[in-house]
Amino acid sequence: MESTFYHRLTATSLDEELLSDSCCDKILSASEVELLPLLDAAYQVRKTYFQNTVQLHILNNAQNGNCPEDCHYCVQAKTATTDIDTYSLKPEAEVLAEAERAYQSGAYRYCVVMSGRGPSPKRVTQLAQLIQTVKSRYPIEVCLSVGLIDEPAARTLKEAGLDRLNHNLNTSESHYPKICSTHTYQDRMDTLRAAQAVGLACCSGVIVGMGEENSDLIRVAKELRRLEVASIPVNFFLPIDGTQLSESFTRTPQLVPTTLTPDYCLRVLCLYRLLNPSAEIRVAAGREHHLRGMEVMALYPANSMFLEGYLNATGKESLRTLQMIEDAGFTVETNSEISEQLQTEQGGVLLKELEMLRPRMKSNT
Ligand code: SF4
Repeated sequence: MESTFYHRLTATSLDEELLSDSCCDKILSASEVELLPLLDAAYQVRKTYFQNTVQLHILNNAQNGNCPEDCHYCVQAKTATTDIDTYSLKPEAEVLAEAERAYQSGAYRYCVVMSGRGPSPKRVTQLAQLIQTVKSRYPIEVCLSVGLIDEPAARTLKEAGLDRLNHNLNTSESHYPKICSTHTYQDRMDTLRAAQAVGLACCSGVIVGMGEENSDLIRVAKELRRLEVASIPVNFFLPIDGTQLSESFTRTPQLVPTTLTPDYCLRVLCLYRLLNPSAEIRVAAGREHHLRGMEVMALYPANSMFLEGYLNATGKESLRTLQMIEDAGFTVETNSEISEQLQTEQGGVLLKELEMLRPRMKSNT
C-alpha cells in the first residue's frame, strides 16, 4: 500500500473524521496493508493525545463467581463449569489493603470488579462508602465494574467520588445473543447511558475472538466513539476450559476464532485507536497469550494496560511489564516509586538452580 494511505489514516483520525467501513475492514484483513506502517499511523495519533505515557491499572476481583448470568465467555457465569474460587464481596479491610498496594505499585487507577447481574440498593450504599474511604486515603483513580445499574445508583456512586464506571459492550448488538441470553446489548447500553446522565466517565470495551466478524468489531468501535467513552479496554478472548464459548469451540472447531494471531490483534488495536483518537485504549485480557513476542508493539496504538493479571487469569508479572514499557522508551504515568522498584530488581542475573541444570540427577541418586 502507498505511504499516502497510512498518512491519510492518521490525518483522518486527527481531524476527528470517521474512517469508512471498507477502510476499517482493510485495516483488519487486507494483506496489502502492512503492519509496521499501520502501527506507525496509529502511533502518530496516540502520541498526539498521550505522548509516550502508559497508564497502568490494577484490578481487584472483589467478588468472584456465583453469577446468575450466562455470559458464554466468562468463568463466573452460572453455566461455566470451570473450577474457580468463589467468594462474596471481600471485607472492607481487604479492599482497602489492595487499594494501598495498587497505589504503592504505581498504578494510575484501581479497578474494583464484582461478579453479578447488578448491585442491590443496599450494596450500592456499601460500595459508595468504600469508594469514599479509598478516595480519602489514596490519591488514586477508582473505577468500578458492578454489572447493570440505573441512574439513581450511578448518582450515588458518582457523589461518593467514583471516577469511572466500567461496563463493556463486549460485542456488537447483532452478535450479542450468541454470547449471552440473560441480558441484552440494550441493557448494557442503558447502564452506560445512566452513568453518562449523571456525569460519570465511562470505560467500555470489547472482547475480540468470540466468533464475531470484522464488521462486528468495527460496529462496536464506532458505537464507543458515538458514546464518547473515556476508556476502551480491548480484550482478546482467553479460551478457558469450562466456559460455554470454549466448550462450543471445542465441539465445533470451525467456530474457533483462528484470527487471533499477534498480527490480527495489533490490527484491532490500531483500528480502535484510529476510530477513537482521544480515548484511552487499553490492551487488556489476553495480551500475553495472544500477542506473544509482539506484545511490546501494542504500546504503539494502546496507552494503557493492566499491571498484573485479569479477573481469573494471571498476567505477566508486574516488574516484567514495567521493564518492557521502559525498554521500549515509554514512561509510566504514575508516582515515583516504580522506578525504585525497577532499580532494585535489576540487581543481577539469576543463576539456574541445580534441578534445572541437571534435571535427571535426582532420579539417578
Ligand atoms: S461477565 Fe459479569 S455478568 Fe457476565 S457472567 Fe461474568 S460476572 Fe456475570
